Amino acid sequence: MIDLRSDTLTRPTKEMRLAMAGAEVGDDVWGEDPTVRELEEETAALLGKEAALYVASGHMANQLGLWVSSRSGEEVWAHEDHHLIGDEQGAAIVLSRVLPKLYSGDPFPARELLEGWLTGLGEMHRADLALLWLENTFSGRVVPLAEQRRITGFAHAHGLKAHLDGARLWNAAAHLEVEPAEVAEGFDTVSVCFSKGLGAPVGSAVAGDADTIRRARRGRKLLGGGMRQVGIIAAGALYALRHHRERMPEDHERAARLAELLNDLPGLDAVAQTNMVLVTTPEGEAGRYIEAFAAQGVRTLGGGDRVRMVVSLEITDSDIEDAAKAIAKAVAEL
Ligand SMILES: *Cc1c(COP(=O)(O)O)cnc(C)c1O
Repeated sequence: MIDLRSDTLTRPTKEMRLAMAGAEVGDDVWGEDPTVRELEEETAALLGKEAALYVASGHMANQLGLWVSSRSGEEVWAHEDHHLIGDEQGAAIVLSRVLPKLYSGDPFPARELLEGWLTGLGEMHRADLALLWLENTFSGRVVPLAEQRRITGFAHAHGLKAHLDGARLWNAAAHLEVEPAEVAEGFDTVSVCFSKGLGAPVGSAVAGDADTIRRARRGRKLLGGGMRQVGIIAAGALYALRHHRERMPEDHERAARLAELLNDLPGLDAVAQTNMVLVTTPEGEAGRYIEAFAAQGVRTLGGGDRVRMVVSLEITDSDIEDAAKAIAKAVAEL
């Protein structure tokens, strides 16, 4: 079985497990875990921010980013397909009690849309502004940095904070061949995952200025996210940060190779920018294709007319060739 459902499926490597077993630890709720501190400092430095906070999940990192920059009843501007909106059980509404204002289609908001949304601001009927939300990568696609800067510039000019959901920011930086800090630039807060393409077993971080992260640390405790000798798992994240970032282009090349092979097949249209191959099937047929691929030993996810295949560090060159052959067989038999 070749499993291309997600880059969260990776298991810690032998070297990573050794780093975890040997980690120096302490009570992190008291700020005394040296491995967590090291991870937080290195993450902040890579992202060009003053401070970072290690948390259980990307979901928690996002919710804390929202929590520190909004008050109940304020507006958050986001895309309807952002993870914040569709994949966090509505936590934005439950925990921070904000009002999402959503756009659809284009991966980032056009100037006219943003300007239109300012209309009526300050009137009695209108909620106040809190935060503009972006995601990079967004569904495997990289948002150009010039667009990001236009949008964060607009946000700040109009009193909105800006958060970047950078669960796969490392992939975006690898694709753009820039430092992670360049992708994070202009955002008040940014969340990153260690447990996706980097291959760590647990954890994410939220980064920002020192005062913001101090408030996020209090928020993490409020949510029950204060952990004790958590250096054991932070060591896996630290190992991933130090050793697995530079190999990300390999995942991107394999994804591109898979897309190229799939484009030779009738009825499929595949694109890959980072580690995600997005395959368009005939309308409403994705489910049937996914079942047929699985019957040939390739696990994928999707729905409607879209199948996604994610390449990560356990997927080899021969897996890519084998997956393409199995998919070709499935397509021929459909
Ligand atoms: C996976 C993901 C998250 C959340 O990460 P978890 O660790 O699974 O909670 C947030 N945002 C995006 C865009 C993601 O892909």
